[in-house]
Amino acid sequence: MPFKGLQDRVAIVTGAASGIGLATAQRLAQEGAKVALVDVDADRVEQAAGELGHGAIALAGDVSSEEDVARYFGEVTERFGRVASLHNNAGIGGMPVPLAETEMADFDRLVRINQRGVFLNLRQMVRVALEQGGGATIVNTASGTAFHGVPGLAAYAGTKAAILSFTRNAAVEYAKDGIRVNAVVPGPVGTPLFEAFPEEFQSGAETFNPQGRRGTPGEIAAVVAFLLSDESTYITGAAYAVDGGEGA
Ligand code: NAD
Repeated sequence: MPFKGLQDRVAIVTGAASGIGLATAQRLAQEGAKVALVDVDADRVEQAAGELGHGAIALAGDVSSEEDVARYFGEVTERFGRVASLHNNAGIGGMPVPLAETEMADFDRLVRINQRGVFLNLRQMVRVALEQGGGATIVNTASGTAFHGVPGLAAYAGTKAAILSFTRNAAVEYAKDGIRVNAVVPGPVGTPLFEAFPEEFQSGAETFNPQGRRGTPGEIAAVVAFLLSDESTYITGAAYAVDGGEGA
């Protein structure tokens, strides 16, 4: 049974050229949605949308650029008439580094893309939804690192904790406007971001995980699709752990 409400829904997925975003774009397309894939990697996002079919379109853009965000939301509205859903997902990881050795340039880059980028896209989706007058569903990608300390990930984890606050605040502020905002909280997931970590970091994460494994992008995408659909109409401001029990 397909998820209710996704047929013909216009959805933007950021960070859609790879990993979790690509899996969400695939899942939404399978559910009948009209998907706009956004990524800073122009070639890979073009290829991903082409392979997806189902009328999916590719938009190159940097989620942390106010101009780019306004432009790609405008292009989607022009193309499809409206935007009803957003998977606000693009993010970077970077090498684990002890807090005392963190370079501020690396900290600033994490904050710019993971935190400012998510805020800009959230703000734009809310603005567009209010203009359209028809509500919206939004899922922000946080991380289990927002809840528990992981040596080497302080700066990254801070950006992910901010995303949980954006989610809760936007959810209560716009609940009466029919806008639902939730977060997905992945544990370790087999994507290029995670697989760029040193081998011992990856195996350490799996040892720590109750299921003893990393998740698949599709396991995250299934929950995102549910939260974006009309199967979850009484859920807003929530943070859904998809982590093999890690946060339990
Ligand atoms: P990934 O590297 O496979 O995909 C991330 C995509 O985002 C890439 O295609 C990249 O080009 C794009 N991107 C990066 N910066 C961008 C920018 N400024 N503008 C537009 N696009 C940009 O990584 P992933 O694991 O699929 O990560 C997706 C999200 O999931 C991230 O927010 C990440 O923090 C989060 N997350 C991942 C894991 C994990 O273990 N993989 C765990 C928890 C949370």
